[in-house]
Amino acid sequence: MAQSREGFWVPRVDAAACVGCGLCVRLCPTRSPIPPETLHKRVLRGDAAWLKDADSLRASSSGGAVGAIVAALAGEGYGFCGVRYVPERQRAEHFLAETPEAFVPARGSKYIQSLTVPAFRYILAGDGKWLVVGTPCQIAAFRRLIQTRGVEERFVLVDFVCHGVPSQKLWAAFLRRAAKGRDPRRVEASWRGKTRGWQDAYELTLSEDRQTFYRGYASGNEPFLRHFLRCTAQNLTCYACPFVGTHSGADIRVRDFWGERYQANDTGVSRVEALTARGLEVWTKAAAHCVTEPLTPAENAEVEAKTPKAEPPAWGRATFIRLLDWPAGFTLAHGWSLIGCAWARLCRIVRR
Ligand SMILES: Cc1cc2nc3c(=O)[nH]c(=O)nc-3n(C[C@H](O)[C@H](O)[C@H](O)COP(=O)(O)OP(=O)(O)OC[C@H]3O[C@@H](n4cnc5c(N)ncnc54)[C@H](O)[C@@H]3O)c2cc1C
Repeated sequence: MAQSREGFWVPRVDAAACVGCGLCVRLCPTRSPIPPETLHKRVLRGDAAWLKDADSLRASSSGGAVGAIVAALAGEGYGFCGVRYVPERQRAEHFLAETPEAFVPARGSKYIQSLTVPAFRYILAGDGKWLVVGTPCQIAAFRRLIQTRGVEERFVLVDFVCHGVPSQKLWAAFLRRAAKGRDPRRVEASWRGKTRGWQDAYELTLSEDRQTFYRGYASGNEPFLRHFLRCTAQNLTCYACPFVGTHSGADIRVRDFWGERYQANDTGVSRVEALTARGLEVWTKAAAHCVTEPLTPAENAEVEAKTPKAEPPAWGRATFIRLLDWPAGFTLAHGWSLIGCAWARLCRIVRR
Protein backbone atom coordinates (compact mmCIF):
# COMPACT_ATOMS: atom_id res chain seq x y z
CA MET A 1 0.00 0.00 0.00
CA ALA A 2 1.26 3.50 -0.76
CA GLN A 3 -0.03 7.00 -0.01
CA SER A 4 -2.05 8.45 -2.88
CA ARG A 5 -1.62 12.07 -3.98
CA GLU A 6 -4.65 12.89 -1.84
CA GLY A 7 -3.10 11.24 1.23
CA PHE A 8 -4.92 7.89 1.45
CA TRP A 9 -3.56 4.35 1.50
CA VAL A 10 -4.07 2.76 -1.92
CA PRO A 11 -2.75 -0.47 -3.38
CA ARG A 12 0.15 -0.30 -5.83
CA VAL A 13 0.82 -3.33 -7.97
CA ASP A 14 4.45 -4.38 -8.38
CA ALA A 15 4.28 -5.43 -12.04
CA ALA A 16 7.44 -7.51 -11.75
CA ALA A 17 5.99 -9.63 -8.93
CA CYS A 18 2.32 -9.76 -10.04
CA VAL A 19 1.10 -13.14 -11.32
CA GLY A 20 -2.18 -11.62 -12.54
CA CYS A 21 -4.45 -13.84 -10.42
CA GLY A 22 -6.88 -10.93 -9.88
CA LEU A 23 -7.34 -11.77 -6.19
CA CYS A 24 -6.61 -8.19 -5.06
CA VAL A 25 -9.35 -6.80 -7.30
CA ARG A 26 -11.84 -9.50 -6.24
CA LEU A 27 -11.19 -8.78 -2.53
CA CYS A 28 -11.34 -5.01 -2.77
CA PRO A 29 -14.73 -3.72 -1.55
CA THR A 30 -14.36 -0.66 -3.79
CA ARG A 31 -13.19 -2.27 -7.04
CA SER A 32 -15.55 -5.26 -6.70
CA PRO A 33 -18.58 -3.99 -4.80
CA ILE A 34 -20.05 -6.54 -2.44
CA PRO A 35 -23.65 -7.39 -3.39
CA PRO A 36 -25.90 -5.60 -0.88
CA GLU A 37 -27.94 -8.76 -0.20
CA THR A 38 -24.87 -10.59 1.12
CA LEU A 39 -23.97 -7.62 3.31
CA HIS A 40 -27.29 -6.90 4.87
CA LYS A 41 -27.57 -8.49 8.29
CA ARG A 42 -30.31 -8.81 10.84
CA VAL A 43 -29.57 -7.55 14.34
CA LEU A 44 -29.59 -10.78 16.37
CA ARG A 45 -29.11 -8.92 19.62
CA GLY A 46 -28.93 -5.16 20.11
CA ASP A 47 -27.95 -3.47 23.36
CA ALA A 48 -26.99 -0.19 24.87
CA ALA A 49 -23.90 -1.04 26.92
CA TRP A 50 -21.22 0.49 29.11
CA LEU A 51 -18.34 -1.10 30.97
CA LYS A 52 -18.74 -1.81 34.68
CA ASP A 53 -15.07 -0.89 35.21
CA ALA A 54 -15.08 2.90 35.61
CA ASP A 55 -11.39 3.46 34.67
CA SER A 56 -11.67 1.50 31.41
CA LEU A 57 -14.96 3.24 30.64
CA ARG A 58 -13.32 6.66 31.06
CA ALA A 59 -10.53 5.71 28.65
CA SER A 60 -12.89 4.40 25.94
CA SER A 61 -14.51 6.43 23.18
CA SER A 62 -18.08 5.60 24.08
CA GLY A 63 -19.24 2.80 26.40
CA GLY A 64 -16.15 0.63 25.92
CA ALA A 65 -17.95 -2.19 24.10
CA VAL A 66 -14.72 -3.16 22.36
CA GLY A 67 -13.01 -3.43 25.76
CA ALA A 68 -15.76 -5.81 26.93
CA ILE A 69 -15.27 -8.00 23.85
CA VAL A 70 -11.51 -8.05 24.49
CA ALA A 71 -12.12 -9.09 28.11
CA ALA A 72 -14.46 -11.88 27.01
CA LEU A 73 -12.00 -13.32 24.50
CA ALA A 74 -8.90 -12.94 26.70
CA GLY A 75 -9.38 -16.29 28.41
CA GLU A 76 -10.07 -18.11 25.15
CA GLY A 77 -6.63 -17.89 23.56
CA TYR A 78 -7.37 -14.91 21.31
CA GLY A 79 -4.90 -12.20 20.36
CA PHE A 80 -6.06 -8.67 19.51
CA CYS A 81 -5.60 -6.63 16.38
CA GLY A 82 -6.58 -2.94 16.53
CA VAL A 83 -5.30 0.56 15.89
CA ARG A 84 -2.79 2.72 17.76
CA TYR A 85 -1.28 6.08 16.95
CA VAL A 86 2.45 5.99 16.19
CA PRO A 87 3.96 9.46 16.80
CA GLU A 88 7.31 8.68 15.08
CA ARG A 89 5.46 8.13 11.80
CA GLN A 90 2.59 10.50 12.65
CA ARG A 91 0.05 7.94 11.58
CA ALA A 92 -2.38 5.29 12.80
CA GLU A 93 -1.43 1.64 12.35
CA HIS A 94 -3.05 -1.69 13.09
CA PHE A 95 -0.94 -3.53 15.67
CA LEU A 96 -1.09 -6.83 17.50
CA ALA A 97 -1.39 -7.51 21.23
CA GLU A 98 -1.42 -10.79 23.09
CA THR A 99 -3.05 -9.49 26.28
CA PRO A 100 -5.77 -6.93 27.10
CA GLU A 101 -3.08 -4.82 28.88
CA ALA A 102 -0.96 -4.68 25.73
CA PHE A 103 -4.09 -3.67 23.76
CA VAL A 104 -4.64 -0.48 25.80
CA PRO A 105 -3.15 1.80 23.05
CA ALA A 106 -6.07 0.70 20.84
CA ARG A 107 -8.53 2.50 23.10
CA GLY A 108 -9.94 5.67 21.64
CA SER A 109 -10.94 6.47 18.07
CA LYS A 110 -8.15 7.78 15.87
CA TYR A 111 -9.78 9.95 13.25
CA ILE A 112 -7.31 9.14 10.48
CA GLN A 113 -6.89 6.15 8.17
CA SER A 114 -4.87 3.27 9.62
CA LEU A 115 -2.29 1.19 7.79
CA THR A 116 -3.45 -2.43 8.02
CA VAL A 117 -0.96 -4.38 5.94
CA PRO A 118 1.84 -5.56 8.29
CA ALA A 119 -0.58 -6.65 11.04
CA PHE A 120 -3.10 -8.30 8.70
CA ARG A 121 -0.32 -10.10 6.83
CA TYR A 122 1.06 -11.52 10.09
CA ILE A 123 -2.23 -12.83 11.46
CA LEU A 124 -3.19 -14.39 8.12
CA ALA A 125 0.11 -16.24 7.87
CA GLY A 126 -0.07 -17.81 11.34
CA ASP A 127 -2.63 -20.14 12.84
CA GLY A 128 -3.67 -18.16 15.93
CA LYS A 129 -7.11 -16.88 16.88
CA TRP A 130 -7.61 -13.11 16.59
CA LEU A 131 -10.12 -10.40 17.34
CA VAL A 132 -9.83 -7.83 14.54
CA VAL A 133 -11.29 -4.32 14.93
CA GLY A 134 -11.44 -1.84 12.05
CA THR A 135 -13.46 0.40 9.80
CA PRO A 136 -16.31 -1.32 7.89
CA CYS A 137 -14.34 -1.33 4.61
CA GLN A 138 -11.24 -2.81 6.25
CA ILE A 139 -13.33 -5.50 7.93
CA ALA A 140 -15.36 -6.31 4.79
CA ALA A 141 -12.15 -6.79 2.79
CA PHE A 142 -10.65 -8.89 5.58
CA ARG A 143 -13.83 -11.04 5.68
CA ARG A 144 -13.48 -11.76 1.97
CA LEU A 145 -9.84 -12.65 2.45
CA ILE A 146 -10.44 -15.15 5.26
CA GLN A 147 -13.39 -16.63 3.38
CA THR A 148 -11.17 -17.12 0.32
CA ARG A 149 -8.55 -18.84 2.47
CA GLY A 150 -11.08 -20.92 4.42
CA VAL A 151 -9.87 -19.66 7.82
CA GLU A 152 -12.93 -17.76 9.05
CA GLU A 153 -13.20 -19.77 12.27
CA ARG A 154 -9.91 -18.26 13.55
CA PHE A 155 -11.31 -14.72 13.64
CA VAL A 156 -13.91 -12.56 15.35
CA LEU A 157 -14.49 -9.35 13.40
CA VAL A 158 -15.74 -6.08 14.86
CA ASP A 159 -16.45 -2.88 12.92
CA PHE A 160 -18.11 0.41 13.83
CA VAL A 161 -20.42 2.88 12.21
CA CYS A 162 -17.94 5.11 10.42
CA HIS A 163 -18.02 8.78 9.51
CA GLY A 164 -15.19 8.26 6.99
CA VAL A 165 -11.46 8.89 7.30
CA PRO A 166 -9.85 12.23 6.43
CA SER A 167 -6.70 12.61 4.37
CA GLN A 168 -3.39 11.94 6.10
CA LYS A 169 -2.27 15.23 4.53
CA LEU A 170 -4.87 17.08 6.57
CA TRP A 171 -3.54 15.49 9.75
CA ALA A 172 0.13 16.14 8.89
CA ALA A 173 -0.53 19.79 7.97
CA PHE A 174 -2.65 20.33 11.08
CA LEU A 175 0.00 18.77 13.30
CA ARG A 176 2.78 20.92 11.81
CA ARG A 177 0.78 24.01 12.66
CA ALA A 178 -0.49 22.94 16.09
CA ALA A 179 2.92 21.63 17.25
CA LYS A 180 4.26 25.20 17.05
CA GLY A 181 7.88 24.33 16.46
CA ARG A 182 7.89 21.07 18.46
CA ASP A 183 9.02 17.92 16.69
CA PRO A 184 5.72 16.32 15.48
CA ARG A 185 7.36 12.90 15.87
CA ARG A 186 7.32 13.36 19.64
CA VAL A 187 3.69 14.41 19.84
CA GLU A 188 1.07 12.03 21.25
CA ALA A 189 -2.49 12.60 20.01
CA SER A 190 -5.96 11.74 21.23
CA TRP A 191 -9.12 12.54 19.29
CA ARG A 192 -11.62 11.63 21.98
CA GLY A 193 -11.70 12.46 25.68
CA LYS A 194 -14.17 12.77 28.51
CA THR A 195 -12.61 15.70 30.40
CA ARG A 196 -15.85 17.62 29.91
CA GLY A 197 -18.01 14.46 29.85
CA TRP A 198 -19.05 12.17 27.01
CA GLN A 199 -21.60 14.53 25.45
CA ASP A 200 -18.64 16.80 24.62
CA ALA A 201 -16.24 13.96 23.81
CA TYR A 202 -14.93 15.22 20.46
CA GLU A 203 -11.86 16.47 22.31
CA LEU A 204 -8.55 16.67 20.47
CA THR A 205 -5.48 16.78 22.69
CA LEU A 206 -1.81 16.90 21.77
CA SER A 207 0.92 16.26 24.29
CA GLU A 208 4.68 15.99 24.51
CA ASP A 209 6.38 14.11 27.35
CA ARG A 210 2.91 13.71 28.90
CA GLN A 211 2.40 17.49 29.03
CA THR A 212 -0.73 18.56 27.16
CA PHE A 213 -0.04 21.65 25.06
CA TYR A 214 -3.15 21.67 22.85
CA ARG A 215 -6.79 20.89 23.64
CA GLY A 216 -9.77 21.72 21.47
CA TYR A 217 -13.39 20.65 21.18
CA ALA A 218 -15.68 20.14 18.21
CA SER A 219 -18.25 22.11 20.19
CA GLY A 220 -15.75 25.01 20.16
CA ASN A 221 -15.12 24.64 16.42
CA GLU A 222 -11.67 23.03 16.82
CA PRO A 223 -10.46 23.06 13.19
CA PHE A 224 -9.27 19.45 12.68
CA LEU A 225 -12.43 18.00 14.28
CA ARG A 226 -14.51 20.49 12.30
CA HIS A 227 -13.06 19.13 9.03
CA PHE A 228 -13.47 15.53 10.19
CA LEU A 229 -17.11 16.01 11.19
CA ARG A 230 -17.97 18.09 8.10
CA CYS A 231 -16.28 15.49 5.84
CA THR A 232 -14.18 18.16 4.14
CA ALA A 233 -11.35 15.87 3.06
CA GLN A 234 -12.60 12.32 3.49
CA ASN A 235 -11.49 9.51 1.19
CA LEU A 236 -13.51 9.64 -2.06
CA THR A 237 -14.75 6.10 -1.38
CA CYS A 238 -16.19 7.27 1.97
CA TYR A 239 -18.72 9.51 0.22
CA ALA A 240 -20.23 6.44 -1.44
CA CYS A 241 -19.71 4.02 1.44
CA PRO A 242 -21.89 0.92 1.04
CA PHE A 243 -21.46 -0.13 4.68
CA VAL A 244 -24.41 1.78 6.06
CA GLY A 245 -27.17 0.54 8.34
CA THR A 246 -26.49 -3.11 9.09
CA HIS A 247 -24.51 -3.65 5.87
CA SER A 248 -21.39 -5.12 7.37
CA GLY A 249 -18.80 -7.86 7.03
CA ALA A 250 -18.38 -7.95 10.82
CA ASP A 251 -19.71 -10.27 13.50
CA ILE A 252 -20.41 -7.33 15.80
CA ARG A 253 -20.94 -3.66 15.02
CA VAL A 254 -20.48 -0.91 17.63
CA ARG A 255 -21.20 2.80 17.64
CA ASP A 256 -21.71 5.75 19.94
CA PHE A 257 -25.21 5.76 21.38
CA TRP A 258 -25.86 9.46 20.77
CA GLY A 259 -29.39 10.81 20.85
CA GLU A 260 -32.29 11.36 23.16
CA ARG A 261 -32.25 8.18 25.18
CA TYR A 262 -28.85 8.84 26.83
CA GLN A 263 -28.58 12.60 26.42
CA ALA A 264 -28.14 12.99 30.18
CA ASN A 265 -25.32 10.39 30.28
CA ASP A 266 -21.83 11.82 30.65
CA THR A 267 -19.72 8.68 31.04
CA GLY A 268 -20.38 7.05 27.63
CA VAL A 269 -22.74 4.52 26.10
CA SER A 270 -22.02 2.13 23.24
CA ARG A 271 -24.63 0.73 20.99
CA VAL A 272 -23.82 -2.88 20.10
CA GLU A 273 -25.32 -5.07 17.40
CA ALA A 274 -24.53 -8.77 17.15
CA LEU A 275 -24.89 -9.54 13.44
CA THR A 276 -23.84 -13.21 13.12
CA ALA A 277 -24.23 -16.35 15.25
CA ARG A 278 -20.54 -16.04 16.19
CA GLY A 279 -21.09 -12.39 17.07
CA LEU A 280 -24.07 -13.28 19.24
CA GLU A 281 -22.06 -15.91 21.11
CA VAL A 282 -19.16 -13.52 21.75
CA TRP A 283 -21.33 -10.53 22.67
CA THR A 284 -23.38 -12.65 25.10
CA LYS A 285 -20.14 -13.37 27.01
CA ALA A 286 -18.84 -9.79 26.64
CA ALA A 287 -22.08 -8.29 27.92
CA ALA A 288 -21.29 -9.74 31.36
CA HIS A 289 -18.55 -7.05 31.66
CA CYS A 290 -21.08 -4.30 31.00
CA VAL A 291 -24.29 -2.82 32.21
CA THR A 292 -26.65 -3.45 29.28
CA GLU A 293 -30.09 -2.27 28.33
CA PRO A 294 -31.79 -3.89 25.34
CA LEU A 295 -32.61 -1.87 22.24
CA THR A 296 -36.29 -1.54 21.54
CA PRO A 297 -37.61 -3.08 18.29
CA ALA A 298 -38.12 0.50 17.03
CA GLU A 299 -34.48 1.35 17.79
CA ASN A 300 -33.31 -1.74 15.94
CA ALA A 301 -35.44 -0.77 12.97
CA GLU A 302 -34.16 2.78 12.83
CA VAL A 303 -30.51 1.68 12.51
CA GLU A 304 -30.48 2.46 8.80
CA ALA A 305 -31.78 5.99 9.23
CA LYS A 306 -29.34 6.79 12.06
CA THR A 307 -26.24 5.98 10.06
CA PRO A 308 -24.27 9.08 9.12
CA LYS A 309 -23.44 9.39 5.46
CA ALA A 310 -20.43 11.47 4.52
CA GLU A 311 -21.22 14.23 2.02
CA PRO A 312 -18.45 15.98 0.05
CA PRO A 313 -18.35 19.75 0.52
CA ALA A 314 -20.20 21.76 -2.11
CA TRP A 315 -17.00 23.75 -2.84
CA GLY A 316 -13.55 22.55 -4.05
CA ARG A 317 -12.44 19.56 -1.95
CA ALA A 318 -9.61 18.82 -4.39
CA THR A 319 -8.23 22.36 -4.05
CA PHE A 320 -8.50 22.10 -0.27
CA ILE A 321 -6.33 18.98 -0.33
CA ARG A 322 -3.82 20.47 -2.81
CA LEU A 323 -3.38 23.54 -0.60
CA LEU A 324 -2.31 21.27 2.28
CA ASP A 325 1.00 20.63 0.44
CA TRP A 326 1.96 24.31 0.63
CA PRO A 327 3.99 25.85 3.45
CA ALA A 328 1.41 26.93 6.06
CA GLY A 329 -0.87 24.52 4.19
CA PHE A 330 -3.38 24.00 7.00
CA THR A 331 -3.94 27.73 7.45
CA LEU A 332 -4.39 28.21 3.69
CA ALA A 333 -6.73 25.25 3.25
CA HIS A 334 -8.74 26.16 6.34
CA GLY A 335 -9.12 29.71 5.03
CA TRP A 336 -10.21 28.33 1.66
CA SER A 337 -12.86 26.18 3.36
CA LEU A 338 -14.23 29.14 5.32
CA ILE A 339 -14.55 31.17 2.11
CA GLY A 340 -16.11 28.13 0.38
CA CYS A 341 -18.68 27.68 3.17
CA ALA A 342 -19.58 31.39 3.14
CA TRP A 343 -19.92 31.34 -0.67
CA ALA A 344 -22.13 28.22 -0.60
CA ARG A 345 -24.34 29.82 2.06
CA LEU A 346 -24.63 33.03 0.02
CA CYS A 347 -25.60 31.03 -3.11
CA ARG A 348 -28.30 29.22 -1.13
CA ILE A 349 -29.74 32.51 0.13
CA VAL A 350 -29.70 34.05 -3.38
CA ARG A 351 -31.43 30.94 -4.83
CA ARG A 352 -34.18 31.15 -2.21
C1 LIG B 1 -12.68 7.09 11.74
C2 LIG B 1 -13.81 6.74 12.69
C3 LIG B 1 -15.10 7.21 12.45
C4 LIG B 1 -16.15 6.90 13.32
N1 LIG B 1 -17.40 7.39 13.05
C5 LIG B 1 -18.43 7.09 13.90
C6 LIG B 1 -19.75 7.61 13.65
O1 LIG B 1 -19.98 8.36 12.70
N2 LIG B 1 -20.76 7.25 14.50
C7 LIG B 1 -20.53 6.42 15.58
O2 LIG B 1 -21.47 6.14 16.32
N3 LIG B 1 -19.29 5.92 15.83
C8 LIG B 1 -18.25 6.23 15.02
N4 LIG B 1 -16.99 5.73 15.27
C9 LIG B 1 -16.82 4.73 16.36
C10 LIG B 1 -16.76 5.31 17.75
O3 LIG B 1 -15.93 6.48 17.77
C11 LIG B 1 -16.19 4.31 18.75
O4 LIG B 1 -14.94 3.84 18.31
C12 LIG B 1 -17.08 3.13 18.93
O5 LIG B 1 -18.30 3.57 19.45
C13 LIG B 1 -16.46 2.11 19.86
O6 LIG B 1 -16.50 2.60 21.14
P1 LIG B 1 -15.63 1.96 22.33
O7 LIG B 1 -15.87 2.78 23.54
O8 LIG B 1 -15.85 0.50 22.40
O9 LIG B 1 -14.21 2.28 21.70
P2 LIG B 1 -12.73 2.14 22.14
O10 LIG B 1 -12.47 1.25 23.30
O11 LIG B 1 -12.25 3.52 22.24
O12 LIG B 1 -12.14 1.38 20.87
C14 LIG B 1 -12.08 1.92 19.62
C15 LIG B 1 -11.67 0.79 18.69
O13 LIG B 1 -11.62 1.34 17.38
C16 LIG B 1 -10.42 0.94 16.74
N5 LIG B 1 -9.97 2.11 15.97
C17 LIG B 1 -9.62 3.32 16.45
N6 LIG B 1 -9.26 4.14 15.45
C18 LIG B 1 -9.37 3.43 14.30
C19 LIG B 1 -9.12 3.72 12.94
N7 LIG B 1 -8.67 4.92 12.54
N8 LIG B 1 -9.32 2.75 12.02
C20 LIG B 1 -9.75 1.53 12.41
N9 LIG B 1 -10.02 1.18 13.69
C21 LIG B 1 -9.83 2.13 14.64
C22 LIG B 1 -9.43 0.59 17.83
O14 LIG B 1 -8.64 -0.50 17.43
C23 LIG B 1 -10.30 0.22 19.01
O15 LIG B 1 -10.41 -1.17 19.14
C24 LIG B 1 -15.90 6.06 14.44
C25 LIG B 1 -14.61 5.61 14.70
C26 LIG B 1 -13.56 5.94 13.84
C27 LIG B 1 -12.16 5.42 14.14
